Amino acid sequence: MESISRKTFIQSSGLLLASEILVKKPDAFASGAVLRANKPAKKWTLKNVRLETGFMYEDGEVIATQTGLFRVEIEDGKIKAVLPNDPKAEATDAKGQLMLPAFRDMHIHLDKTFYGGPWKARLAKNRSVKDMIVFEQKTLPELLKTSTYRAEKIIELLQSKGTNFARSHVNIEPTSKLDSLKNLQKAIENKKDTFGTELVAFPQHGVFYSHSEQLMKEAAAMDIDFIGGLDPNAIDGSVEKQIDFIVQLALDHSKGIDIHLHEGGEPGLRTVEYLTQKVLENPALADKTFLSHCFVLARLEKPKLEETAEKLAHARVGVISTVPFGNTIMPIPTLYRYGVNVMTGNDSIVDHWNTFGTGSVLQKANMMAQLYGQSTELDLSRCLKLATCNILPLDEKGKQQWPKAGDEASVVLVDASCSAEAVARVSPVKALVHHGNLVYRN
Ligand SMILES: [Zn+2]
Repeated sequence: MESISRKTFIQSSGLLLASEILVKKPDAFASGAVLRANKPAKKWTLKNVRLETGFMYEDGEVIATQTGLFRVEIEDGKIKAVLPNDPKAEATDAKGQLMLPAFRDMHIHLDKTFYGGPWKARLAKNRSVKDMIVFEQKTLPELLKTSTYRAEKIIELLQSKGTNFARSHVNIEPTSKLDSLKNLQKAIENKKDTFGTELVAFPQHGVFYSHSEQLMKEAAAMDIDFIGGLDPNAIDGSVEKQIDFIVQLALDHSKGIDIHLHEGGEPGLRTVEYLTQKVLENPALADKTFLSHCFVLARLEKPKLEETAEKLAHARVGVISTVPFGNTIMPIPTLYRYGVNVMTGNDSIVDHWNTFGTGSVLQKANMMAQLYGQSTELDLSRCLKLATCNILPLDEKGKQQWPKAGDEASVVLVDASCSAEAVARVSPVKALVHHGNLVYRN
């Protein structure tokens, strides 16, 4: 990676980068190279780009996805044109790889991870959320010393998995105060030309349980996008008290809401219903309010689940799920059926909460396909929307809807023949373009 300096990259157009440098200095693209860009490359073209063009049917069933090779012109961070292919054109060669919308990780904690340091599994003694709060009070001061560096490393991991955007929760509590946020903001600033983020001010130790009200107010006035929350009844002893605080803070600062809700049973359901009611009362919060995890939905009887899904869709409250399996299987197909906005994320990647996590949201789409029996060409192609935040190259009928001139040029090239194959095989990511800049190539 060091063989391409920041300056060299900035001065090079995408065309020069991917064609000339690739030819003259193949070592510059050593496996896993995460490149840096300071400003959008003005104009460049990709040739031999595979795009999906339609479905093939037999007896009314989709039996295959049609694709073709194209040239894609990119200018000022946008797709300028999709043109017939010309293998002889002077352009960056996509080598027949499939172009898809870049992936988005909508729930992650970039501010606290072991990733970037030595391997460390989670500890069995930390069972409950309250155990974790005590554990964090001891360990966070040490983690904070390297959290900017680690956040940058985890961003690079996400880029290598085709992700160019993340919604990151960031701890706001009396141990870190605002330092976790400030450290993460440094990492985001360092990566801002190659990676997009939005932040959730997350009261990880409860709002009232740890007396984090004032810190949350200060964070809300800083450069964040969402007000977070955590198990209102289990941690703060009152659903209404915590939700009222969060809703008011979000309204006062024109932010969205994204709450961690692990708790189930009656308090879990009451949290879902109370928050949904608040969003209906405050339309400014519609489409900007999310329940992360929301495990309570996994344990509802069918009629109650359907009623709740309908309410969430009506209030335009989204659900963000890591697609868990084992004791908890989320009712994701039901949520989709009722029109709930479902998104995914890795949540933890090697940290004290969870030892697992690959950094790939394409893998989450694959997991969803496996868990819910989505194994046909059509079903698999639909599952891609979990990784791309609902952008799909083809609509339900096989009509091409992406990419179009004017679309954001944030794309990924994968070694697959179509979306269905990419989901089924978690196909390798070969390149990532963020707002028109090539930022990763493998
Ligand atoms: Zn989380």
